[in-house]
Amino acid sequence: DLVVHVNGLTKRFGNTLAVDDVSLDVHRSELVVLLGLSGSGKSTLLRCLNGLHASTSGVVDVVGHRVDRASRSELRALRREVGFVFQHFNLVGRISCLENVLLGGLGRLKCARYGALTYPKRMRAEALEHLDRVGLADLAHRRADTLSGGQQQRVAIARTLMQRPTVLLADEPVASLDPENAGVVMDLLFQVCVEEKLTILCTLHQVDLALGWAHRIVGLRSGQKVLDRSTIGLTRDE
Ligand code: ADP
Ligand code: ADP
Repeated sequence: DLVVHVNGLTKRFGNTLAVDDVSLDVHRSELVVLLGLSGSGKSTLLRCLNGLHASTSGVVDVVGHRVDRASRSELRALRREVGFVFQHFNLVGRISCLENVLLGGLGRLKCARYGALTYPKRMRAEALEHLDRVGLADLAHRRADTLSGGQQQRVAIARTLMQRPTVLLADEPVASLDPENAGVVMDLLFQVCVEEKLTILCTLHQVDLALGWAHRIVGLRSGQKVLDRSTIGLTRDE
């Protein structure tokens, strides 16, 4: 049940060694936090996993796709199985929450429908269920840009659930939120991880959040992996 297998991954930007010979295996239904200071390579590592960045060397295998040598069409297939959650939510502000969630299902539509952007009834029902799941069914028809940051991130999570992903990559998903909303969003990620058997890789820079919600913490420093431990029994000094 290995979902992510990374071996000897290196990523350079010119002279900058952003990720330095990192190896990492992640199993199904694990919530792994990539923890490190700003500039330690967390975001770059995450982006190499869905091919947003091409790796310089090393093996990157995500749900059976060899990302490091994937063709464009294989990358497209991969990205359908890999959800991405951003620090700044990346919702379409001028449309409703429900429409935003439906966008996560675009990849499942036939091309003919795609042009007209009409969704089958069962997809709208499914989108509503996901909104209900994140506690926002009441706001389904509100414009996304009228919601608070925490609410917008919950809509963004509902949008990736709509994609029915195997893996969810979250890049600093709570960095723009106050501590209370950060906790709500981390709770939600933990829940979907366990209940939907979704594998989650999440970058964070706060030790307390990592200790509170991760199954396992992978520590990065200057692009190198310096820690890889289950959070059980782990203290913040380590
Ligand atoms: P983190 O997510 O931990 O803050 P990043 O992965 O964003 O770290 O960055 C790691 C290093 O790589 C930093 O030195 C950063 O400046 C550099 N870097 C990241 N993206 C690029 C890029 N597109 N071009 C050049 N350098 C980059
Ligand atoms: P975020 O933290 O929201 O991902 P950043 O400000 O770290 O945004 O980076 C924005 C973009 O700039 C990313 O695509 C990143 O890869 C790129 N980037 C980051 N650091 C550098 C750098 N030193 N040189 C060039 N591009 C960079």
